[in-house]
Amino acid sequence: MYTTQVKTASLPVSRWLDDYCTPERFRDACRACPDYGKVWSCPPGVPDARAAFAPFRTVYLVGVRVDYAPETIAAADTPERTEALRQASYGVVKKQLLSTLLELEKAVPGSWTVAAGRCEQCDVCTRREGLPCRKPDRMRYSFSAFGFDLGKLAREQLGLELLWADRGLPAYNAAIAAFLTP
Ligand code: SF4
Repeated sequence: MYTTQVKTASLPVSRWLDDYCTPERFRDACRACPDYGKVWSCPPGVPDARAAFAPFRTVYLVGVRVDYAPETIAAADTPERTEALRQASYGVVKKQLLSTLLELEKAVPGSWTVAAGRCEQCDVCTRREGLPCRKPDRMRYSFSAFGFDLGKLAREQLGLELLWADRGLPAYNAAIAAFLTP
């Protein structure tokens, strides 16, 4: 159904912010996102990137490229089947990546994770009902929620070109997460 490739890189947090974090450029796109205001990992309410990352010195980037098999791409012929296939592949990888980094947090005092995309720990986020997050110990803010230029970051630091498809699945999707250390 799919194969994966993992790419990693590290850089100083100051350079990560200076070269790739431009929230003002993404504010309108963020407001237009269907997750805006519906998931606790996404805006509004996400802390300012420079304040949130001030305690950290080094960021480790982890990109997992999920390559879809040709028969998987062919099977994604309706929006419903595309979403089901995405959840069974990219969605699984995204959850494994988060679980791995949460385990790593326990081993590295003072570390923190930035997640690949919106939180998907629950089927429906409690934010839609105006209730507090159900699993705050596992919720990590989405990478794009901080206003990073993920396309540029993935290309320049991980050698990954991000792909999108208007319909169906692209050749691959990439889950990009970050692990911060003091
Ligand atoms: S853990 Fe559940 S309630 Fe909390 S942000 Fe994630 S999906 Fe929403």
